[in-house]
Amino acid sequence: MAQQFLDMPNKDGYFGEYGGQIIPPELKAIMDDINASYDKVRETAAFQDELQELYADYVGRPSPIYFARRLSEKVGGAKIFFKREDLNHTGAHKINHCLGEALLAKYMGKTKVLAETGAGQHGVALAAACALVGIDCEIHMGEIDIAKEHPNVTRMKVLGCKLVPVTRGTKTLKDAVDSAFEEYVKDPVNFFYAIGSVVGPHPFPRMVRDFQSIVGIEAREQFQAKQGCLPDYLMACVGGGSNAIGLFTAFLDDENVQMIGVEPAGKGLDTPDHAATLTLGTKGGLHGFECYILQNSEGEPLPVYSIASGLDYPGVGPQHCYLKDIERVQYETIDDKECLEAFMTLSRLEGIIPALESAHAVAAAMKLAQTLPADKNILVNLSGRGDKDIDFVAEYLSL
Ligand SMILES: *Cc1c(COP(=O)(O)O)cnc(C)c1O
Repeated sequence: MAQQFLDMPNKDGYFGEYGGQIIPPELKAIMDDINASYDKVRETAAFQDELQELYADYVGRPSPIYFARRLSEKVGGAKIFFKREDLNHTGAHKINHCLGEALLAKYMGKTKVLAETGAGQHGVALAAACALVGIDCEIHMGEIDIAKEHPNVTRMKVLGCKLVPVTRGTKTLKDAVDSAFEEYVKDPVNFFYAIGSVVGPHPFPRMVRDFQSIVGIEAREQFQAKQGCLPDYLMACVGGGSNAIGLFTAFLDDENVQMIGVEPAGKGLDTPDHAATLTLGTKGGLHGFECYILQNSEGEPLPVYSIASGLDYPGVGPQHCYLKDIERVQYETIDDKECLEAFMTLSRLEGIIPALESAHAVAAAMKLAQTLPADKNILVNLSGRGDKDIDFVAEYLSL
């Protein structure tokens, strides 16, 4: 599997010019310890067996590949297939890396796992993983998000994690990151900060990629068994980039497989209300690593926006920045309106309610399919289910 790409990042955590550890020396020592422990632990049969068993019996892996016949017929052109990460326990791909991170924290003898959450998806997956592994979990969440995301807040409480409301600043994701991070640096030797995507300082972009790569490993085998060939196109939405890199990694050496990451154009690329980091961003630093970033002239991250809160991030995983620069992956955008249309179309034609995040990839696949002949195949990563989004969409569309 894509050895040249799996050998990345280099020992300093760089994918080309992106990634690294832009952090104080005392934290660098902690991150290097996590990297070394990960290298040691991941080679052991005990860790791999435990993780593989949980993927199978707890998450329900392998997730199926589904041919969306009615959607493909309606759109016309290429066939559209879905990798059904929406069917995973807890409803999205995030459980794949949360289990890996919680297990690693346990193997390292950490006493508490910490994280921030925006819409609550990472918080729920992490709280479930920590309950299962048997380790304390503390999630920081902005007060505004707590009010908005009631079902996920309740889930986290039922799952037994400590939920810390963040009342400072914007009372949303960015301040939740600062708050969780302050708690973390109180005792980084005993605490573990579980990052929710392929972002943050080395080794997180690498570790989260490795844990998510199960998606593409399965998909490559399944698609070949089902269709007798590889897909012509892979598509996935990109916030931080974990579900996309999870699907892409196993195919990076397959020159005939084209890959497209889909960013949120929000209310339009000509407005400030989008989060199209790779499309419109410039090189900078954020949350301990170097990447493309939507920033002002002082290098501060801009307030970004997407109808899908999981895509609402001013930076992006360093490996995606590298893959864009070498032109191995193309990045496109889909706006709120196109996302909602895809959300409703998929729900009504196939009986599958996608997460608003995933609906960005579905919308891009529908656009692409129309331009292609019927013998071409598009495989979309359906990163999560849309149960969390139904009340919002019903109100927004006055259903
Ligand atoms: C969090 C989330 C995303 C965005 O995260 P990535 O790291 O970009 O994959 C996408 N889809 C769903 C369903 C999510 O919950």
